Amino acid sequence: MKIKTTGTAVAPWLFSLLAMTCTSALADQAVTPPSNLLTAAVAWKQTAAEFEALYYQGFNVARMQLDRALQAHKPGDRPLAIISDVDDTVLSSNSYWGYMINSGKEFFDDDAWDQWVAENGPVATPGAVEFLNYAQSKGVEVFYVTSRDQGEKTYEYALANLRNSKLPFADDKHLTVYRDSSNKEPRQTEIAKDYQVVLMLGDNLNDFKRKYYVADVKQRSSLMNEDKEQFGRKFILFPNPTDGHWLKAIFGDSEPPATPENRAKFKAAAAANAWQAKP
Ligand SMILES: [Mg+2]
Repeated sequence: MKIKTTGTAVAPWLFSLLAMTCTSALADQAVTPPSNLLTAAVAWKQTAAEFEALYYQGFNVARMQLDRALQAHKPGDRPLAIISDVDDTVLSSNSYWGYMINSGKEFFDDDAWDQWVAENGPVATPGAVEFLNYAQSKGVEVFYVTSRDQGEKTYEYALANLRNSKLPFADDKHLTVYRDSSNKEPRQTEIAKDYQVVLMLGDNLNDFKRKYYVADVKQRSSLMNEDKEQFGRKFILFPNPTDGHWLKAIFGDSEPPATPENRAKFKAAAAANAWQAKP
């Protein structure tokens, strides 16, 4: 077989080399996954038993603290209540993130999220139904406070997601949805007037206090340290490596676009504390 290039036949050895190179490149393409900033985080969420165990750990600690509060509760005291965030706290977003990986998306995508929420994508997180049913069996009310915006049907979708996941207290009295703000404090303060709030559940520091709503990595850490005694006592925190306000502290935006600049920023954040060989 002869292939003409500028009138000269390609030597058979060169043809073989070219063919090998092409085959090797194609093989590399097939086995090398695309560089996606989310891959490790989503793989962990989707497969790590440790991820699930952290939910059980959170709800087990919550139950211990609830039992303690029930023992100390006296007739005439304000009734006990729990305030919970929704997404990645009592509802899992894992199948959304799996879709994101399959679609080659690297950061949160509002349109995909809205559609997934509308189609009742969420399921309960490990241990959530059991713990919240336990609270209900002890006469402790659970209030859900979430920030979501899927337009006019936002509230309807959120309620449907809770009901679809068999979570208790899925009703108008116990669900508050903020469409225009991520500040949950007004509702938290309102609940605290009538109830003794014993536990707050969340995957984002902002679920506990508004003061954490700062876009600076060190400041967030410093503010969290001021309250370190509260974690595992009143504040029960669940893991979320894919999204949240921690990203805003890096990018200045909770839903940053996947630009080369943002890739560089993410890499710099990951290497903020890196081992250096001594000369
Ligand atoms: Mg959340």
